[in-house]
Amino acid sequence: MSDQRLHDQLSTATPRAIDSAITRPSPYGTLAEPTYSGITSFLRRPYRKDLRDTDVAVFGAPFDLATTNRPGARLGPRAIRSASASLAWCPPYRWGFDPLDRLSVVDFGDLYFDPGRPADIPQGLYEQVRDILSHDVLPLALGGDHFVSFPILRALSERHGPISLIHFDAHSDTWRDEDDRVDHGTMFFHAARLGYVDPSTSIQLGMRTFNEETHGFQVCDAEWLHAQGIDRALHAIHSRVGQRPCYVSFDIDFLDPAFAPGTGTPVCGGFSTHEALRMVRGLASLNVIGMDVVEVAPAYDHAEITALAAASIAHELLAVVASRRPCRHDD
Ligand code: MN
Ligand code: MN
Repeated sequence: MSDQRLHDQLSTATPRAIDSAITRPSPYGTLAEPTYSGITSFLRRPYRKDLRDTDVAVFGAPFDLATTNRPGARLGPRAIRSASASLAWCPPYRWGFDPLDRLSVVDFGDLYFDPGRPADIPQGLYEQVRDILSHDVLPLALGGDHFVSFPILRALSERHGPISLIHFDAHSDTWRDEDDRVDHGTMFFHAARLGYVDPSTSIQLGMRTFNEETHGFQVCDAEWLHAQGIDRALHAIHSRVGQRPCYVSFDIDFLDPAFAPGTGTPVCGGFSTHEALRMVRGLASLNVIGMDVVEVAPAYDHAEITALAAASIAHELLAVVASRRPCRHDD
């Protein structure tokens, strides 16, 4: 949004300029609304279950029954939506365009599951994601613990075949496991085993926990990434993935606990928010078909540090997708 457009909108504000999550006329564009008030959909997108004419559906997956350490990521989607209000008044900087002028983005709300029937949850999440994908929309999921990536990858792989995974995390999440266990540290082992992802065209970044097996994934661990730097890492990502359909999965514990205290399994020696945002920006031009930001556990957060980081990363991910699209909104 131009400064003039923002000024014009603020100066002609009407009562409809609040609660734009339910009052906005279009899923395109940025509308200014006081950051501290109103219904907090993600980035003030319209809350909608109707996915016609939608490019990206943002949805929450408030599931944290697969955590191995501290629970609480079930409250992540709500916290990320709330923090995103402070980003919703202008486009992300350094792109030169507003991703919301190029993409029709809605907040689909949260996926449903019955926590009293845990064995049914993976199938239930998968079916809901499959329904979302049937509208040819791109999913942006807000976790929830990292297991929520698994049903999403299952649904995406049915449409695209084995997917290239770009995975930011302190943990590999590929620890060997028995079939059908629901665990946020093993779902990428299962995703590879079941052919949802293709490890030979996938890359993992930021690991700093021990796993002697890679299962064919390229692993750029934290030591490598700190020593080699972001540009080398981006080169490695683009070389590995090319223009294949890829899924970006961002576990917020990729960040150092200093930058993301609000997570269930923090690991020292990680990365700054600046480094993470630079890496995400460097994904522009990739063929992204889905993405998530997971493991935000607000009970351990301070001053919204973690939730704001997650919202900012999700905002940049939208810009990554938009970088391949023309402008479709000229209001
Ligand atoms: Mn993870
Ligand atoms: Mn992790």
